[in-house]
Formats: sequence, C-alpha cells, structure tokens
Amino acid sequence: MKIKGKKISIDLWVSEIQNNNKVVLAQAITLIESTKESDKIIAAELLKKCAELKTKPSIRIGITGVPGVGKSTFINTFVRNLSNKENKIAILSIDPSSQNSNGSILGDKTRMTDLVNDPNVFIRPSPSGITLGGITAHTTDTILLFEAAGYNYIIVETVGVGQSETAVHGVTDFFLLLMLPGSGDELQGIKRGIMELADLVFINKADGDNILKAKIAKAEFSLALHLFPAMPSGWTPQVIIGSAIESIGIKETIDAIDSFISITTTNGYFEKNRTNQKINNFRQQIKSIWWQQFIENQNTKNKIFELENAIKEGKLQPINAVNEIIEFQKTYFNK
Ligand code: GDP
Repeated sequence: MKIKGKKISIDLWVSEIQNNNKVVLAQAITLIESTKESDKIIAAELLKKCAELKTKPSIRIGITGVPGVGKSTFINTFVRNLSNKENKIAILSIDPSSQNSNGSILGDKTRMTDLVNDPNVFIRPSPSGITLGGITAHTTDTILLFEAAGYNYIIVETVGVGQSETAVHGVTDFFLLLMLPGSGDELQGIKRGIMELADLVFINKADGDNILKAKIAKAEFSLALHLFPAMPSGWTPQVIIGSAIESIGIKETIDAIDSFISITTTNGYFEKNRTNQKINNFRQQIKSIWWQQFIENQNTKNKIFELENAIKEGKLQPINAVNEIIEFQKTYFNK
C-alpha cells in the first residue's frame, strides 16, 4: 500500500487510520471491498490489527426508509446536532440496488452537503458491486475501520425497499426507521418485518400542513408497535414526529438513543448482541465460502444442476434433493 506514491507498512497504515487520515481510511475501505486474493490477505491483516486497538465506545445506528422520505436530510441535521469535540461521526450508505438500477438510489456524498467539509464527519458512499450477501461482512469490516479511526457514532444508511435492512439491522446496535406522515395501515411500502425491527420510528416532514397527519400517524404507529412481541433488548420502541428540514424532533431522537444505550448496557443486552452479531458474521462468511467451493467443483455443480432439473420437472421435492446431495457429497469426498 502507498501514501503519496511511497510504499508503507501495515503498521504505518494502522497509525495513519488512528490519526484520522481520511485518504488512508478511504483507501483501506477500498482494500477491504476488493475481491482480489492478494488484497484480501492484506485486508485481513489490517483488520486484525485494527480490531486489537483499544477504541472509544461506539454506537452503530442503522437508518432506513423509502426513497424520498428524507434520509439524507435527516442525517444531515442529525449529524450537525451531534458533531462536536467529543463526537466523530462516520456514515456508510448501503445500496445493493445500485447494481441493477443503473445508478444508485442513495446517490453519492453530495446528498449531505453540510457534512462534506466537517472534519469530524466521514462519508462513504455505497460500495460498488456490493451484493445483499456481502453486506454483513463488508459493513462489519468497514465499521471496524471507522472505530479504529476514532469515530464513535457510526451511521449505516440503507434504502428501505428490499432485504438490505435486515442485513443492516444485523450489524448495528440501534435501528431507526424513517416514515412519512400518513396512514400507518398502508405502512408506506415498508414491510411489517422491518417495522418489527425498529427501535425508533421517526415520522419525518411533520411541518406545514402535515402536522395533523403526522400526529395521527404517530398514534397508529405506536399502536402497531405495541402489537409486536417485546424486544429482547428490554427497550420499548419509540415513535417521534419531527422535521429534518426544521430540525424538530432531532434532540429527542438523540436522547432516545442515549436512553437505549444506558438501558441495554445496564441489562447486558448491548454486549451480548454485539457478540451474537460477530458469531452470525462468522457463520455467514463460512456459509458463503463453503457454497462457493461447492459450486466451483465441477462434480458437485453438475449434481446440483441435475437435482434442480428434477425439482423443476416435479420428480423430486427439495427435501429429497438435499438428502441426495448430502449422500453424493459423502461418497465424493470419501473417494
Ligand atoms: P432520501 O431519498 O430518503 O435521502 O430523501 P431526501 O433527504 O433526499 O429528501 C427528499 C425530499 O424531501 C427533498 O426534497 C427534501 O428537501 C424533502 N424533505 C426532507 N426532509 C424534509 C422535512 O422534514 N420536511 C419537508 N417538508 N421536506 C423534507
């Protein structure tokens, strides 16, 4: 790896990240996103060293909502309220849809114009070519780098139209859902499953003529949230109405996050959840590597195609096909 054309050691790279050299941090993120085998080896070493550092306690916040709900406006205002001597904020945007929609729904860092020049803020746009399956590993590794660089608020933004929210929920501590004033019944294109994950629903654009509608929406969302089973965190999900443009409801949101941290660190959930997330990350990575090895092997690949055809033709049920592939694999690997 290089700084200003000069090759540098991994240790120097780590200390530049710790010194919040944003150029080096950006290069490090690009490295961990690389699919080249040689980059993967260096990235693993870099991440190991970063994970060993003693870093400031951080809070990882997932923010989601449909396009147009006001995510970038909200993040802009939210971060301006947080950014000070004590707090450094990193923002990562995740948009797996950018692969097949000819451009990203979340767009690039120009969406958060106020923040671009803030020395306490780092914005990373959506990685190119990220797949849904790749979110967990990529995001976790990027978060680790942010924490090594001293960022104590990590915001992971995702567009609320697919399954990426569930993946992002699995790598963050607090999950914030942005909604519009309107009927809670319609759920505005957000799947119920995503509502169930929310620690806080922020009803945005509660300004001008929308205030009454927002109040009605708050009552409906509060009712809907009550019907879900209690959260394992011991936290009761909140509904806040506000306006990202007029900076209404932002301080309450910051206070709610503080209460969440205080409750979940006291009851032990915070640490337990992070540990579980690490185990899940590990399992997902082995699953994907094993699957890759399985599918790269010509014999197992052919067998899978043969079984898939049998399923398509109605000659075989998936459960029987699974048993067949397990038997096939046993004989194949015992040879
Ligand atoms: P994103 O696609 O979710 O990131 O949404 P944007 O932040 O780009 O906002 C979409 C549109 O909604 C923009 O025209 C914003 O100016 C507008 N908007 C965002 N927040 C508010 C708000 O609190 N009140 C009003 N009235 N408009 C807002």
